[in-house]
Amino acid sequence: MNLPILDAPDNAEESYEDPLDLMDEIDRLKKERNAVVLAHFYVDGEIQDVADYTGDSLKLARDAVAVENDVIVFSGVHFMAESAKILNREKTVLIPDLRAGCSLAESCTFEQLRDFQAKLRGEGREFETVAYINTTAKVKSLCDWIVTSGNAAEIIERVDPDKEILFVPDKHLGSYLQEVSGREMILWPGACMVHEIFSVQDLLRAKRNNPGSEVIAHPECPATVLEHAEFIGGTEKLRQYVMSFEERKTFLVATDANMIHAFEKSAPQHEFVPVPGIMTDTGETCACNRCPHMALNTLQKVRNCLRDLSPAIEWQPYFEDAHAVLERSLLR
Ligand code: SF4
Repeated sequence: MNLPILDAPDNAEESYEDPLDLMDEIDRLKKERNAVVLAHFYVDGEIQDVADYTGDSLKLARDAVAVENDVIVFSGVHFMAESAKILNREKTVLIPDLRAGCSLAESCTFEQLRDFQAKLRGEGREFETVAYINTTAKVKSLCDWIVTSGNAAEIIERVDPDKEILFVPDKHLGSYLQEVSGREMILWPGACMVHEIFSVQDLLRAKRNNPGSEVIAHPECPATVLEHAEFIGGTEKLRQYVMSFEERKTFLVATDANMIHAFEKSAPQHEFVPVPGIMTDTGETCACNRCPHMALNTLQKVRNCLRDLSPAIEWQPYFEDAHAVLERSLLR
């Protein structure tokens, strides 16, 4: 079987620096720059540890609006930092590595969506476009609603019931939402490469090897994985779920393996086992349940961007339209 290629650049250019020294330097620079660090649950644990706020896309977007600091370092991927800038025009929003993209966001470009919407309108169809937050700001500017995995069901209820829903770009999240909301949707055929490659076979083996364990899964996983999950939710919902059990349990985790760092901090009484990715031709389990784009975030780059105040997300004309839809969807 050929493994899908997660074509993100790597961190080969970095030389070793002591993580504890880097953490001290980051703390000092945060004070000097009046800065905060926001870190997504999928970045390395050591970055989560130096961050002032950790969370999923929804929580971090709200945190970015609530903070009063002049500078925000968004340790995540490009569309997240872009959203933080859109919601905070006057603040400096930095991203540790500008190359940190997202395979899902890249699966739906502005031109593709604009042309598809024109085709649907040409057929006389009335619809509203609901986009997962994992889209570029340009794509958001074409949409009526933005959802995160944390608020999607709630937003779908706000869509005009007399209109069709065009859901972009994640077909797995879309099909899960169709099921929970009972509303038919036109689904864009995109998928997250990290969540798409969990092995059902290995998941079932892990379940057999861990009697009494529960599978917790992100809705970006395919239905074949979700059907074996005891609980499905965005990362923050998953965290709340594991925290709700006091007695020790074993959870099999079907989302980016870095999420386990946040689980262990919030609910240290449990054991967390990452669901493996698919087997390679040589019979080894690939390490592809870690997002290669998120992996571009390192302590060194967090320090560098605080030191240099660069790379920063620059305001773009299409951010105005994206702002209106983000504000309506996430902040009201
Ligand atoms: S885990 Fe998937 S959806 Fe999330 S940033 Fe990485 S590629 Fe994009």
